[in-house]
Amino acid sequence: KMPEKLDFIRDIIAKDLASGKHETVITRFPPEPNGYLHIGHAKSICFNFGIAQENQGVDARCHLRFDDTNPEKEESEYVESIKNDVRWLGFDWGSESAPDEHLYFASNYFDFFYDYAVHLIKEGKAYVDEQSPEEMKANRGDVNTPGTPSPFRDRPAEESLAQLEKMKAGDYDDGSMVLRAKIDLSSSNMNMRDPVIYRIMHATHHNTGDDWCIYPMYDFAHPLEDALEHITHSLCTLEFENHRPLYDWFIENCPVPATPRQIEFSRLNLSYTIMSKRKLLQLVNDGHVSGWDDPRLLTVSGMRRRGYQPAAIRSFCKRVGITKVNSVTDMSILEDEIRNELNQSAERRMAVLDPLKVTITNWPSDEHVEQVEAPNNPADEQAGTRQVSLGKQLWIERDDFMEDPPKKFFRLGPGRSVRLRGGYIITCTGYEKNDAGEVTEVLCEFIPGTIGQNPPEGIKCRAAIHWVDAATAVDAEIRLYDRLFTAENPDGEEGGFLSCLNQDSLNIIKHAKLEANLNDAQPGDVYQFERVGYFCAELKDHIPGEQAVFNRTVALRDSWGK
Ligand code: ATP
Ligand code: MG
Ligand code: MG
Repeated sequence: KMPEKLDFIRDIIAKDLASGKHETVITRFPPEPNGYLHIGHAKSICFNFGIAQENQGVDARCHLRFDDTNPEKEESEYVESIKNDVRWLGFDWGSESAPDEHLYFASNYFDFFYDYAVHLIKEGKAYVDEQSPEEMKANRGDVNTPGTPSPFRDRPAEESLAQLEKMKAGDYDDGSMVLRAKIDLSSSNMNMRDPVIYRIMHATHHNTGDDWCIYPMYDFAHPLEDALEHITHSLCTLEFENHRPLYDWFIENCPVPATPRQIEFSRLNLSYTIMSKRKLLQLVNDGHVSGWDDPRLLTVSGMRRRGYQPAAIRSFCKRVGITKVNSVTDMSILEDEIRNELNQSAERRMAVLDPLKVTITNWPSDEHVEQVEAPNNPADEQAGTRQVSLGKQLWIERDDFMEDPPKKFFRLGPGRSVRLRGGYIITCTGYEKNDAGEVTEVLCEFIPGTIGQNPPEGIKCRAAIHWVDAATAVDAEIRLYDRLFTAENPDGEEGGFLSCLNQDSLNIIKHAKLEANLNDAQPGDVYQFERVGYFCAELKDHIPGEQAVFNRTVALRDSWGK
């Protein structure tokens, strides 16, 4: 067997371990707790935690670190949901004996950040700038014009130190001054033109409460967080590539305990999807979806509710791979992975979404019931079999019957025969209609001895349809989901992503009929409804034995190309 090809980052890590540059590898997944995780985060989680798992031999690990340095948008509800989602995806930041061993909060480093800032001031590498935000902006210059030094740029360190103290003490208003690194006002990289490292913000923080009214900027805090945790490889998305010189500058100029290396890879983009947390929040707040866990969203909680399995999401992330090339991944690739996984793991059941009644007129009696044995999963012998009741009256799918079928239609029609999956061959002898011309009942005769047997001479039977025994059927609500957006790239739409919302993305079927075995379905269980698709018992609304509600996870065949 060929060894699996490594991506360019795993290559770097393997080399760093082989050369002895590092004895182990420590990665981190650093979400900002300002929303729920989505499939893009799942890529980063599978990558960072995956590297740790693959390098167990050298005690590698991955930290879950909440990048909670901005008090304004962050909430503990998000912290809990993120922990839950990472675990659900199959990863852990601790062990059984120390469950939170590698759980970190950037906000626990606020004292360190402050000390590093003081250090930079003392070294002449940072200053408190009292220009207005407008002046600061105007003095930054542009790619072709060097910036103009602030009148505060060369103030004595003592003055900046005293002002920083007062900023911290709450003596000043938001926006009245900032602490800036003193780097290079003529750098072609705008990030290096004396970036802001602290700002004043009188806001209550979810972790530190009102202890602080100055907060560090991301570009300053992030490399320091990595260094404080001895991260070896800090893996982030491509948009941070031109922040790397600044990342390295802070690592070089602050007395940090380690030298992490930032490496960028391309982010995941998916067709027909948006991933920005800000926009997801807008969909939630404006009521376009039922919440962060709406099954139409590709949030981790939405995917869970939809019935996507963690293993399928992991193999999708693996399939997409790690590169430096920006691209858009087709939704059909994700659904393909979902389907592959469920084909292996999901038990089969029968369910009729658009029921039409069938009466077997030659059935021994009204009360007569038989049990037919059906395999739970033809793809997995271990899954065993189950008994399915079969009585005089059945439900079949309305479109499996035609009054006047064309030649190529192999299902039921007057005089035609079809096999009931796992059961007898039946022949249609008539049908009834109501005043509206709608077929209300199909009359059939069954052919004894045909279970598991070929049709007798003279009977043509070329299809096997699914069915549900009417006497024992479970009534169910079925929620069918379609793409949430009609455009492949919702962000690229002229009217914005809200202008291409699919008005028909949710279709509710009220009176589907399920085989009685589905009475045992627990919320979250996923089944293949034979010939119909994969369906998941609703996590919130399905009550076993009382109220059956199922979400369609994915259709049996790809529909994205249509
Ligand atoms: P968003 O723009 O959706 O709010 P974010 O990058 O601001 O995302 P963070 O909470 O900061 O959200 O992300 C945590 C980690 O997940 C970061 O390391 C980030 O690079 C990574 N990440 C976020 N979105 C994607 C994506 N689409 N593909 C790969 N990694 C991603
Ligand atoms: Mg971010
Ligand atoms: Mg963001």
